[in-house]
Amino acid sequence: MAKYTSKINRIRTFALSLVFIGFIIMYIGLFFRNHPIFMAIFMVLGFLSIIASTVVYFLIGMLSTRAVQVVCPSCNKVTKILGKVDMCMYCREPLTLDKELEGKEFDESYNRSK
Ligand SMILES: [Zn+2]
Repeated sequence: MAKYTSKINRIRTFALSLVFIGFIIMYIGLFFRNHPIFMAIFMVLGFLSIIASTVVYFLIGMLSTRAVQVVCPSCNKVTKILGKVDMCMYCREPLTLDKELEGKEFDESYNRSK
């Protein structure tokens, strides 16, 4: 159960890790001060990573507007569903928009099968 998280949360974690990776790459670049070309490569890669995270954050914003808002039956907080099945962002309660899938075991493959 715990291996699943809400999709929006997962993308957000990914974007955040991109920022950290970007800073780490730029930091590594500082060790190549005597090799300006290497340093420049690391700086550019780090910068691109941070740009990518900005793009991902932007995509989260787009996805959030498309996600369906529901009140979680378990914790009564307003959460968002992406795709057919998703999880509550707060208590990880599996949620579905498809009545046929109600009561079935949570399975991410329902999002892909058509
Ligand atoms: Zn909940």
